[in-house]
Amino acid sequence: MTAADTAPPLRIAIVGGGIGGLFCALAIHHHCSIAQVSAQIDVYEQAAQYKEIGAGVGVGVNAARLIHNLGIGGQLNAIAGHRRGVWIRFSRFDNSEDICTVPVNDNETIRQAPCARSDLLDLLLQTVNGRKAATLHTKKAFHHVKDIGHTVRLHFADKSTTEADVLVGCDGIHSKVRNQFIVDKPIFSGQIAYRGVIPIAYLKDWPFETYSVAWLAKHRHLLIFPIARNTQLNVVAFVTKAESEVADVKESWTSICSKQDVLSDFDGFDDPAQQVLKLLPDEPSKWRLNDREPLNKWHYMNGKVILLGDAANAMLPHLGAGAGQAMESGWILGRVLSEYLSGVTQTHTLFSSLEEAAQLYQDVRLPRAQKAQRTSRAAGNTYEMQAEDMLDKSYEECIPMMAERTRERMKWVWEEDLDAAFERVKHGRRSTAF
Ligand SMILES: Cc1cc2nc3c(=O)[nH]c(=O)nc-3n(C[C@H](O)[C@H](O)[C@H](O)COP(=O)(O)OP(=O)(O)OC[C@H]3O[C@@H](n4cnc5c(N)ncnc54)[C@H](O)[C@@H]3O)c2cc1C
Repeated sequence: MTAADTAPPLRIAIVGGGIGGLFCALAIHHHCSIAQVSAQIDVYEQAAQYKEIGAGVGVGVNAARLIHNLGIGGQLNAIAGHRRGVWIRFSRFDNSEDICTVPVNDNETIRQAPCARSDLLDLLLQTVNGRKAATLHTKKAFHHVKDIGHTVRLHFADKSTTEADVLVGCDGIHSKVRNQFIVDKPIFSGQIAYRGVIPIAYLKDWPFETYSVAWLAKHRHLLIFPIARNTQLNVVAFVTKAESEVADVKESWTSICSKQDVLSDFDGFDDPAQQVLKLLPDEPSKWRLNDREPLNKWHYMNGKVILLGDAANAMLPHLGAGAGQAMESGWILGRVLSEYLSGVTQTHTLFSSLEEAAQLYQDVRLPRAQKAQRTSRAAGNTYEMQAEDMLDKSYEECIPMMAERTRERMKWVWEEDLDAAFERVKHGRRSTAF
C-alpha cells in the first residue's frame, strides 16, 4: 500500500464548466492518475446544462497537443475543420488580392483543430463522464468564498455551501471568483464582432484553396474558418465602433442585430466576402469585445483560491488563443497539484505549502498568458490598421506594415514546449530555494 492509498483526497472545486473548467478537470485527473495520488474534483456550473454557444473556436497546435496528451486527439481531429495548409490567407477587402498567407502544417496527427465550440465542449464533457474524472453539478452559481482555515467554503446563489481544499475559478471574463479579490472591470476594446456559422455547401464558385480567409479594411475585418469536418464555416466580422454606439451590445449570444446592419458595415467588400455575409442568419449575434487588464496575482487565501482561463487573463480574440491559453493553464495546474500531492504523500519537499504550489503555477503560466493578452490587442489594432503608427497612413501604406507584422505572429503561441517550460521554472525555483 502506498502513502497515496491512505491519504484523504484533495478536494478540488472548479467553478465554471466551460472549455477551461472541463479541460482543467481532465488535466488534474490525468496527472493525478499518473502520479497515483488522489484528488476529488467537483465542477460547479451556473447553467442548467454544460453547453457552448453556436460558434467556432480555433484550437492552435499548442492546445491540440495537450488534448492529444489526454488521449483524445483522434476524437479532436474528427470534429475539426481542415484549413489545407493555411492558417489564414489575409486578403484585401476590395478585390481579395493576397496580402500575406500564413502557412501551417496541418497534415501531422497533432495539428491545429478549428472546431464548433459545442463539439469541443461535448468531447471534454464525454471524456470527464467516461473517465469519472469529476462530479459535474449544474445550476450552481458561485456567489462568494470564505477562508475557514485549512479549507475554503464556497457559497452559491441558491444559498447552498460546500467545502473544498482548493477552489479553481474558471468562471470566465465576468468571474465572480476574481471579483471577490480584485476591483476591476472588463475593458471595451473599441470593437464589436458579428458572429455566425454557415454551411460551406451553400458557397458557390469559391475562389480560394482554403476556407480560412481574413479580408482586411481600415476599421473592419472579416474572418472565416472551417469547422465541423469542413461542413460549416465560422464567421466573425469585426468592426471598430465608438463606445456610445454600442451601449446596448453585450458579450452574449442573446445580443443580436439585423443582417442588414452587417451588410451595411461591410459595404465595399469583395464578392466572396459578400457571399459569406449574405448567408448569415437574419439576426446574427452582435458581440461586444472586451478584455481585462493583466492581473499580477492569480492565487489568494494562501493558495486555496486559484484563477484560470478568462477569469485570470481574458484577452481579445485576435490571436485565436484564449481557449488554448486556458487549456495550457489547466495542464500546468494539473502537473503542479499532482506534484504537490506527491510531496504531501511521500514527504519529499518540492513544496512546503499549497501557496508555493499555486505560485509555481502562476510563475509558469502568467508571463505567457499576459503576453497573449498584450499581443491580442496589438494584433486587433494591426488588422484594423489602428496601430498608432498606422493611424495617419493610407490603406495602401498600411498593407505592407500589416503583412510584415503578421507573418511570424503566431510562432511563439504555437511552438512553446509547455512541459519543458514547467521543468525550467520548477528547477530554477528549486535552485534558488535550496
Ligand atoms: C469572438 C470571439 C472569438 C474567439 N475565438 C477564439 C478562438 O478561435 N480560439 C481560442 O482559443 N479562443 C477564442 N476566443 C476566446 C475563448 O472563447 C475564451 O478565451 C474561452 O472561452 C475561455 O474559457 P473559460 O472556460 O475560461 O471561460 P468561459 O468559456 O467564459 O466559461 C466560463 C464558464 O463559467 C460559467 N460561470 C460563469 N459564472 C459562474 C458562476 N458565478 N458560477 C458558476 N459558473 C459560472 C459559465 O456559465 C461558463 O460555462 C474567442 C472569444 C471571442 C469573444
